[in-house]
Amino acid sequence: MANPKKDKATAAPPAPAPGPRFFREILGQEWVVSHLKTARQKGRLAHAYLFLGPEGVGKASTAQALAAALNCQAPLEDGDACGVCPSCRRLAAGTHPDFLVIEPTSEGHQPQIKIEQIREFRRLTSYPPLGGGWRVALIKPAEALTAQNDAAANALLKTLEEPPDRHLIILTTQVEADLLPTVVSRCHKLAFAPLPAALIAGELERRRGLAPPQAQLLAALSGGSLGRALSLDPEAILAQRRQVLADLGALATGSAAAALDWAQRLAKSRPDLDHFLSLAQMWYRDLLLCHFQAPAALLAHQDLLADLAREAAATKPTTVFQQFTALSTAQRHLQANLNPELTLDILGLRLQRRGQSHGSR
Ligand SMILES: [Zn+2]
Repeated sequence: MANPKKDKATAAPPAPAPGPRFFREILGQEWVVSHLKTARQKGRLAHAYLFLGPEGVGKASTAQALAAALNCQAPLEDGDACGVCPSCRRLAAGTHPDFLVIEPTSEGHQPQIKIEQIREFRRLTSYPPLGGGWRVALIKPAEALTAQNDAAANALLKTLEEPPDRHLIILTTQVEADLLPTVVSRCHKLAFAPLPAALIAGELERRRGLAPPQAQLLAALSGGSLGRALSLDPEAILAQRRQVLADLGALATGSAAAALDWAQRLAKSRPDLDHFLSLAQMWYRDLLLCHFQAPAALLAHQDLLADLAREAAATKPTTVFQQFTALSTAQRHLQANLNPELTLDILGLRLQRRGQSHGSR
């Protein structure tokens, strides 16, 4: 648990949390934000929320925005926090005593929230919020409550069942099925949508100063997660794309032995593999869109429109579709933990069939 009262002389000050802190700064989650604002204005906030959705779409930021709104000393007319009162300033600085972030204390294979962290939180809940407003606890990710065993989750159940006055618990997760049903059933669920690619591209241009084609490529690779998009290195992605397009070209015209060699090399590197599959799929997706004369604005590779048009003219849509399907199948098999070497062997051979309209199996 983040302890804002920790002695600053002995503990390294926490880095200020990046990103939005107020409702007006949350991007692309209008429905959730308006739901929370209305519930608050009508005094109908739930005692516990489960924020469901992909990584990097604003779940933790929204929790912080809600805590800010609940504790603000001069809230705006629409219910959002003012951003300048002492409470808002402490929240922005990460030093608000009533906004608690309960998260795994160490990274690992299965990051864990320990039962001691929940006990400490429960102990705090026997006192009213220190600032006179609301105490908001953000538990993220909630599946870390059951990483080793159910003890921490079970300890939390009692508080979820009988929440003290002016206390709010927010859990975040990507997959509801990873949580105990007894925890889920005590929370009000709010679903966070993946962010539209155009919105992510706009943010990358604004925050990172990226040129529109680069921003659009990264946005398309981000799976609707602004957090993931911001963590990608544009130069590295462009270099990877060059490599992927070179590999696809070589596979199409090369021998079966070369395809198997390629598969063995790629199978050894998981991060490269994930990016290869995503980038290659995006390339074939764009080719298919070209074949169907979709508006150019829909294409992810805005800087390679001429290459796409040339390639589309030289391939048959059925072949492109088969290659796209081969990549999706490989991705599904890898996610299901099937043998990567075998999966990539098959993929390499299937990608070889470019230009053959009857080459599918
Ligand atoms: Zn304020």
